[in-house]
Amino acid sequence: MIPFSPPRIDQKIIDEVTAALKSGWITTGPRTRKLENQLSAFCGNPTTLCVNSATSGLELMLRWFGVGEGDEVIIPAYTYAATANVVIHCGAIPVLVDVRKDFNISIQQVESAITSRTKVIMPVDFGGWPCNYQELNALVRKKDIVSLFSAKSQAQKTLGRILILSDAAHSLGAKFNGKRTGSLTDVSVFSFHAVKNLTTAEGGAISLNLPEPFDNEAVYQELRVKSLHGQNKDALAKMQIGNWKYDVVEAGYKMNMTDIQAAIGLVELERYEEDTLPRRKSICIQYINLFRNHAWAILPTVHDLIDQKHEAESSCHLFPLRIHGVHEEQRDRIIQLISQKNVAVNVHFLPLPMLSFYRNSGYEISKYPITYSLYENEISLPVYYDLSDDQVRQVADTVISSVEEVLNS
Ligand SMILES: *Cc1c(COP(=O)(O)O)cnc(C)c1O
Repeated sequence: MIPFSPPRIDQKIIDEVTAALKSGWITTGPRTRKLENQLSAFCGNPTTLCVNSATSGLELMLRWFGVGEGDEVIIPAYTYAATANVVIHCGAIPVLVDVRKDFNISIQQVESAITSRTKVIMPVDFGGWPCNYQELNALVRKKDIVSLFSAKSQAQKTLGRILILSDAAHSLGAKFNGKRTGSLTDVSVFSFHAVKNLTTAEGGAISLNLPEPFDNEAVYQELRVKSLHGQNKDALAKMQIGNWKYDVVEAGYKMNMTDIQAAIGLVELERYEEDTLPRRKSICIQYINLFRNHAWAILPTVHDLIDQKHEAESSCHLFPLRIHGVHEEQRDRIIQLISQKNVAVNVHFLPLPMLSFYRNSGYEISKYPITYSLYENEISLPVYYDLSDDQVRQVADTVISSVEEVLNS
């Protein structure tokens, strides 16, 4: 049986987690701070806050920006539910727009969806393929779009325009025009969930890259307080003898990362660039070579230009294979055949308008034709560090025979 994306848990991870457990400090502390610093160094952004999930990180940023009742947040229709759920949590309205053939949000569609209520755009780097951040960053700075913006909170007044909050759950290590995600736009949020490229079991990070006149370090301190009850001292600071007294300055959240999680993340990050990313890329390139001669295979891009202009490199989080001319029911049959041959595959994702909650809220899949056309014939193949070259061939053979069985039936 070939699983879909098991985490890479080896002796090194076990040793570091054991060391954290034995250190006498298991909640947020030195290992979390070290991971934050190393993430900033890796991504090239000023500062990073680790949290307990990407979902928490996205919600914390929406709340920090003062998003609430009546506000609109533009997101792609083709994403995981977390992107939309956090907008609902804040009492705001998720405005769904269609994607492009590369699975990423359509910037033309974003532009037509902007109103005077738009506060945030949350693009998603689908499968690790970065969005066109040059165009997104330029869009929110356009004169007519800036003049539409109506600032309520202090952060909104300081920014003076729509915030770009990237859902970078898939794209740690991806590059666009020579820069890494995390340093490509205002704020990016990574996920370290068990199935993601870099894991801490559960976890996430907020990469701050806010423009002048924001002081990213000051925003970091503000978010750190917000992420831990609104308390002005964290547990480590309170531990210092005689330093027991604290204050709560707001009704904050409980979103902090623990040092046990950070211990896993530190090992993962140390080998990420030299070992994890090249292996993932190699697997994707092998798939491309194994499928390229099959006329029915529509292959994802790993390393190429976006819009014939911007050099981009994927973090190879997913391998979203598509089967030309196949509709939803045939795709589901192909998956059933693949599963019977003991290979685990997936579909990324069920588009938001097809999920009960969003469908019942009035979103209709017929309004997102590209999203549906990608979804109906998409099959995500296994990509993980320990997947051997032989197994890659086995996956490809299994997929090819299953697709041909359905196409010829
Ligand atoms: C996994 C994922 C999230 C949520 O990440 P968590 O760390 O589990 O909260 C958000 N958006 C997308 C696109 C994801 O795939």
